[in-house]
Amino acid sequence: MKPVIVIHGGAGAISRSAMTSEKEREYHQALADILRSGQKILEQGGSAVEAVTAAVVGLEDCPLFNAGRGAVFTSDATHELDAAIMDGLTLRTGAIANVHRIRNPILAARQVMLASRHVFFVGEGAERFAAAQGLELVDPSYFSTPSRLEQLERVRRENPDAAVLDHDGQSKVENQPAAEIHPLDMDKKFGTVGAVALDQHGNLAAATSTGGITNKQVGRVGDAPVIGAGTYASNQTCAVSATGTGEMYIRKVAAYDIAARMRYAGQTLEQACNAVMFEELPSIGGKGGLIAVDAQGHFIMPFNTEGMYRGYAHPGQAPVTEIYRS
Ligand code: ASP
Repeated sequence: MKPVIVIHGGAGAISRSAMTSEKEREYHQALADILRSGQKILEQGGSAVEAVTAAVVGLEDCPLFNAGRGAVFTSDATHELDAAIMDGLTLRTGAIANVHRIRNPILAARQVMLASRHVFFVGEGAERFAAAQGLELVDPSYFSTPSRLEQLERVRRENPDAAVLDHDGQSKVENQPAAEIHPLDMDKKFGTVGAVALDQHGNLAAATSTGGITNKQVGRVGDAPVIGAGTYASNQTCAVSATGTGEMYIRKVAAYDIAARMRYAGQTLEQACNAVMFEELPSIGGKGGLIAVDAQGHFIMPFNTEGMYRGYAHPGQAPVTEIYRS
C-alpha cells in the first residue's frame, strides 16, 4: 500500500499548438504547488479527507481552473457552483449545489459531511448553512474573471443554444451537432477540479468542485456534487473524481459504476475505469476524464478528450504533472 494524492483540473480539447509555453508552465506550476499541499498532509500522517480538501481549496483559489474563483458563467451571466466530498472509511459525504456566495464550496461540502445530519444542500439553504458554520461568504463578483465573461460572450454569439464544456469548444451538451460548434479560444481553457487520495492509514477520499459548463441554464446541476456520478469513495473499492459532460456522467452513474464493477464483477481499478471511460460514457456521447485510486494505492487518470490537467504525488517524492496524452 502506497499513499498517494491525485488531482485533476478538468479535461477537454487542450491543443498543444494553441498553448504558449509560458501558459503551460503556469499550469504545471499550479498543479505541482497544489499537489505539494496535499502531499504534505499525507506525509504528516493526515487523513485522505484532509489531503483532498486542501488540494481542492488550492484549485478553487487558483483562477486558472473552473471552480471557485475563475468559475464559468451561466446563461444569465451569473455563477452557480457545485462541490462534493466523500470519506471512503465511513461513507460519510457532503455536497452542495447552485451556490454563488461561498468562497470555497468544497469547505461547505465538508461541513455538510461533518456537521450536518443531511448530505446535500442547494442554493440559499446551502449558503445559510455555510454562513452558520462560519465559512467565508463573498460577493458573487469575486468568482468572475474577464476571460470567463469573454468565453460566455463568445459561446452566446456562436452557439446561443449550446452549453459548452469548459475547455472544449467542440464539445456540447445540447441541441447542436459537434461539427457546427466552433472551438473556444484555445488559449483560454480552464477546468473543473478534483482530488482523490489514499492515506497511510489505508483510507480513501474523493472531492470535486466546479463552476459547471459555460452558458448552462440557470438551475442546472452537473455530476460533480451528485454522489456516485462525479464523486465517490469507499475503502472497499476506490475513490473517484470526474470531469466532463456532467449529464452523461449522471446518466451512467459513472463514479459508482467503477466501484460496483470492482466490487461485484471483480474488475481491477484499471479495468473498471477504462470500461466506464472508453465504453460506457462514449456510448451516450459522454466526454471528459476522471481520476481514481484504489485501497492499495494503484491510481489511474484516463480521459477521452485531447488532454486533462492532472498530476499525482507520493509522500517524499516530487509531484508529477501532465496536460496532454502521453
Ligand atoms: N462535469 C462538470 C459539469 O458537468 C463540468 C466539467 O467537468 O468541466 O458540471
